[in-house]
Amino acid sequence: MTDEARYGCIEAGGTKFVCAIADGRGALLERARIPTTTPEATLAAVLAWFGRTEAAPAGYRGFGIASFGPVELDPSSPRWGSILDTPKPGWSGTPLARPIEAAFGVPAGFETDVNAAALAEAELDDIRAKGVVYITVGTGIGGGFASNGATIPGLRHAEMGHIFPPRHPDDTAFPGCCPFHGACLEGLASGPAIHARWGRSLSELPTDHPAHAIVAWYLGHLAGTLMAVLSPARIVFGGGVMHAPGLLAGVRAAATAFSAGYLIDAAAIADIIRAPRLGDDAGLRGALLLAQRAAR
Ligand code: ZN
Repeated sequence: MTDEARYGCIEAGGTKFVCAIADGRGALLERARIPTTTPEATLAAVLAWFGRTEAAPAGYRGFGIASFGPVELDPSSPRWGSILDTPKPGWSGTPLARPIEAAFGVPAGFETDVNAAALAEAELDDIRAKGVVYITVGTGIGGGFASNGATIPGLRHAEMGHIFPPRHPDDTAFPGCCPFHGACLEGLASGPAIHARWGRSLSELPTDHPAHAIVAWYLGHLAGTLMAVLSPARIVFGGGVMHAPGLLAGVRAAATAFSAGYLIDAAAIADIIRAPRLGDDAGLRGALLLAQRAAR
């Protein structure tokens, strides 16, 4: 082990695994996108990329894995570091962390992608201790929470996308598209839910289309709920759907209306509900934090 040793960072997603190699000071040196196919082929490609002789000539200090869920986070479980039962074909029960540890002989940190992103966003400024929720709105909706620089262990992990917001008055006919719940938040406001109703992504719909206000209304309800349950200093909204112009402002307005002057300080709303400071790298930066912690 020398100062030249590297950290391996993996953001494991349902459509791609984003892999990166960081130096000892945490600078990302190179990255790769590996398509998520079968567990065997995907893991083999990940191991091969990190295992290239030129990738880390002095070896790795540790790995960090920020994974799509559901996952086992309990370190005392034999399934720690694995994907749990998922509708994604073939992936239920797939171990991610242990094969990486075995291949490179170093420890791996393991978290949900959104918990890792929350950790990374919380490291950025003075709000580390006061709590950061990271929400991703994309193919699904998920959320993670970090406070005092740590995530909060539970029986499993949070599933913030599967709450049940009230129905928007102009959106009562759509049954929702969550395979488990129909009209939960994910079933109403995720990318597939938007496509199912309106045939296009939110970014592709005209700015005066009612979809913008409806999606913002549902996500604003989530923000209000999070303020009521966790009172975080930040609620960071990332993910592909959030690239739609004006959506973040719509979420702020809806959350302010839901809070009715009680839960959210309207004067601070732009400070509380924000885009990721790390942009689309929040999950990968979270994986780096996990790797650095695992190596200690
Ligand atoms: Zn659901």
